[in-house]
Amino acid sequence: RAKAGGRGRAELFDPAMRAAAREAESLASDLRRAVVDDRLELRYQPIVDAHTGRVRSWEALVRWNRPGHGLLTPGSFLPVAERSELIRDIDRWVVRAATAQLSRWTTDLGRDDLAVHVNVSDRQLRRDGLVADVADALAASGLAGSRLVLEIDHASALADPRATAHLAEVRELGVRVAFADFEAGFRSLLALPDAPVDLVKIGSDFLHVGTTEHDKLLHLVIQGVRAVGLDVIAEGVERADQLATLRALDCAMVQGYHLARPMTTAKAGAYLQEAALDPFSGLQPRTPG
Ligand code: C2E
Repeated sequence: RAKAGGRGRAELFDPAMRAAAREAESLASDLRRAVVDDRLELRYQPIVDAHTGRVRSWEALVRWNRPGHGLLTPGSFLPVAERSELIRDIDRWVVRAATAQLSRWTTDLGRDDLAVHVNVSDRQLRRDGLVADVADALAASGLAGSRLVLEIDHASALADPRATAHLAEVRELGVRVAFADFEAGFRSLLALPDAPVDLVKIGSDFLHVGTTEHDKLLHLVIQGVRAVGLDVIAEGVERADQLATLRALDCAMVQGYHLARPMTTAKAGAYLQEAALDPFSGLQPRTPG
């Protein structure tokens, strides 16, 4: 270490960096314990039919109630998990918990038309155990594969033969795959026709609606994705005018704060029942759960 010279020594002795390294270590060990003790939580955000407001599926989003720190969103702990094997345990826990919950809603609320989306980390897509983890979660929950959607949000996965082989295998189980890194560029558009993908999520970069020119582009994107046989979900819909434009452009499914924020399991159950009474009630802004 001493041979590393001036720069290495500065790193080692800089109090701020040492404090940051200590904090990362303590976060990783707290997180490991939280996974073992089953103390992660899921929030659910609905993906709704843009025309009727009816819930089509839920995206499961992981949270961690870290003692002394409150409820943490994934951006503050997943990057640490992704540097170790912990991410595998988290992804496995999420797919199990989300499918178990969907199975409960199916039984309790009679909604066998709903699906649940879970995010899969880039590194997990390349790991051989992924397919077994997904198959185990389906078997444990008793759900058909078609009720589960895996979301991938790294365009690089579409270019990786191991990741695409794993995605092809999970699709054989009936599971659908949503590609959520469309903004990554034209290359990802070109890759779509041959990719093991069923749905495309177009995000807020495409929602700079308001000018006719942007709307024309958005329309072309929606038509292009549909032309190759994929379904389109617009995410990050924050305003009524965005929703109106997406409906006018015949985008089938929408997700975003304007429709509902991620919510607790209990609130999601209540939301499903309200939306069943009045399909358009799902189009009201909601408060966080
Ligand atoms: P994502 O898959 O793109 O998830 C959507 C994120 O955008 C969520 O943040 C959600 O709360 C937020 N969001 C939803 N609607 C809106 C909107 O209208 N406007 C804005 N500004 N944001 C909106 P969250 O929950 O913090 O998740 C962030 C990212 O963390 C996710 O992005 C996903 O990549 C990752 N993630 C979440 N849960 C999991 C998980 O269980 N496993 C893995 N591997 N990654 C996860």
